[in-house]
Order: sequence, then C-alpha cells, then structure tokens
Amino acid sequence: MAMIEVGFERQNFYPLKRKSALLLKLIAVVFAVLLFCEFLIYYLAIFQCNWPEVKTTAYDGEQASHEPVLKAMFLADTHLLGEFLGHWLDKLRREWQMERAFQTALWLLQPEVVFILGDVFDEGKWSTPEAWADDVERFQKMFRHPSHVQLKVVAGNHDIGFHYEMNTYKVERFEKVFSSERLFSWKGINFVMVNSVALNGDAEAELIEVSHRLNCSREGRRASQCHSRLSENYDVLSREESQKLLWWLQPRLVLSGHTHSACEVHHGGRVPEFSVPSFSWRNRNNPSFIMGSITPTDYALSKCYLPREDVVLVIYCGAVGFLVVLTLSHLGLLASPFLSGLNLLRKRKTR
Ligand SMILES: [Zn+2]
Repeated sequence: MAMIEVGFERQNFYPLKRKSALLLKLIAVVFAVLLFCEFLIYYLAIFQCNWPEVKTTAYDGEQASHEPVLKAMFLADTHLLGEFLGHWLDKLRREWQMERAFQTALWLLQPEVVFILGDVFDEGKWSTPEAWADDVERFQKMFRHPSHVQLKVVAGNHDIGFHYEMNTYKVERFEKVFSSERLFSWKGINFVMVNSVALNGDAEAELIEVSHRLNCSREGRRASQCHSRLSENYDVLSREESQKLLWWLQPRLVLSGHTHSACEVHHGGRVPEFSVPSFSWRNRNNPSFIMGSITPTDYALSKCYLPREDVVLVIYCGAVGFLVVLTLSHLGLLASPFLSGLNLLRKRKTR
C-alpha cells in the first residue's frame, strides 16, 4: 500500500518539476531579451560614438593660445505625441526610446550643452492647456539632466504652429517653459537661436538687436540654430528671409531641424548648414543626433546613430519564435515529428 502511494506521488511530482523548470527558462529568456532591447542596446550603440577632434591652438599673429572646447549635442524633432494623434502604445514606445537614448548619451558622452532644434511636441500647435501641461511634464521627465548641463530648446512649427495658426498665447506658453532667450554664450561661443516659423516684425527687431550685440562684442564666433532649413522657399523661410538672417547674424555654421533627415547645404558657397535628423523612431528607423566639438575659432561635427527600430523588432520576433520552440519541445510536441524524421533518415541510410 505504501509502495503504491509513493509511486503515485512521484508521478505528480515530476511534471510539476518540469513545468516550473520550463517557466523559469521562459522568464529568464523574456528578462534577458527585455534587458537587451530596452537598456543595453542603447549603450552598445552610443558607446561607438566619439567627440570629433578639433584644433585647440589658435594663432593670433605669432602668439599661440590654447582654446577650450565646448562639447555640444544637437538633436531635433522629438515630436512627443499629444492627446489626439497617435496610439498609446506608439507614445509609450517612442517616448521610452527617446528617454533611454537621451539618458544614455548624457551618461556616456557627457555633453555640456544640448540643443533641441524644434518640434519638441507633435500637437503643441493646437493642444489644450491641460494636454500642454501633460506634454511638458513628460518632456521634463524624459529630458531630465544635471544642473551643469545646459538644455536649450528652439520652437518649431508643431510647438507653436506656422505663422498663420500661431498666436501670442502659444508663443508665450512655449517661452514660459523653455525661455525666450535668443542669444546664448558659453565658453566664448555665441549661439543664436532662431525660431524661423515666427519671423514677423517683432522677431525681426529682436534679431537685429542680437546682431548689434554680436557685432559689438568680438568675443568669439557664432553658430546659429533654427527650426526649418534656411534656403527652402517653399516651406517656412523665404529666400529673402534666409538671406536677411545670414546677413544679420553672419554665422560660421547653421544647424537646423524640421526636415527629419540629414542634409548639408552651403549658403553663398561658404556658410554650411546641416539639418539634424529626427531623434524619434516615429519619424525614422535610424534616428541620430549631431555631436559638435566647438572652439571660438573652429568646430568639428560628427553624427551618432541610435539603435535601429527594425533591429529591435527582429530581436523580439526571434525571441518569440525561440520561446514557442522551447515550450513545444518541453511539452513533447516537437519531439515526435523530429524523431520520426530522424528515423526516416536512418532507414534510408541503412538501405
Ligand atoms: Zn518635425
């Protein structure tokens, strides 16, 4: 009687042990894949980026002097989704991607200044005050940074609307969060931040004022950032407006957002303008940002690529396939066709 009881218990005990072993394996695989795709892959991608080399000795006549290098990061078109467009999963996924990318870049690359060149929000142009407050809160969480890192944001057409849909209220609520400064100077380098969707009379007067200040102070050369390419006459800025900006500000380098892709043009054959690709998977499979090593007399730029969205999706699909095979083989469902196939092969060989 006792023998029978022991046998009965064993029968129940073995499948339970097998089941928990399977469950443990499944959990381990899921955990490893999540850890890789949601954290480690960002370190792997950004670890390969380096600050470009720049000349640090300047010659003033015969005197050589050492110039400090400013490490600046430029990203654009983050398009945080609002309450009307975009699925919640889309929002969750793309915001997590940008938060991880930004936080990893801060940790690994240690930039001193970060510029976001417009279209921070997707629906800033029409969002209600409540939705705006919610968007801003999420932005501040995603792009949190230590106090010694400067974060400068330029307005884009999705933040305040194109000139025909823009009003003082939208501009003011944007400037209340991100400041309204146009001229930012750091380590002897002047950055002029141009909101090119709002180049009306007031903004022009402000820029002329900035231009005067720049011409009076000879402490360093300038770079300018704006949302929307300077030379596009079909889009935001007319050719004349572009010419005026270049004339007033006399920049040595222009960086802009809006196109969502990388592009390089030379104005008048000398002033280069680089458009910065989008930072979000929502707009590109391979988002990136620009790293700039800037001194008062020279600069060098390089591009840093973030993980590709299709690679992450392929890893997830592969992991699902692997989990299915693992489960089936544990349940003995995969073994029979496999074994019969082997038997068939053996029979053929012996013939
Ligand atoms: Zn955009």
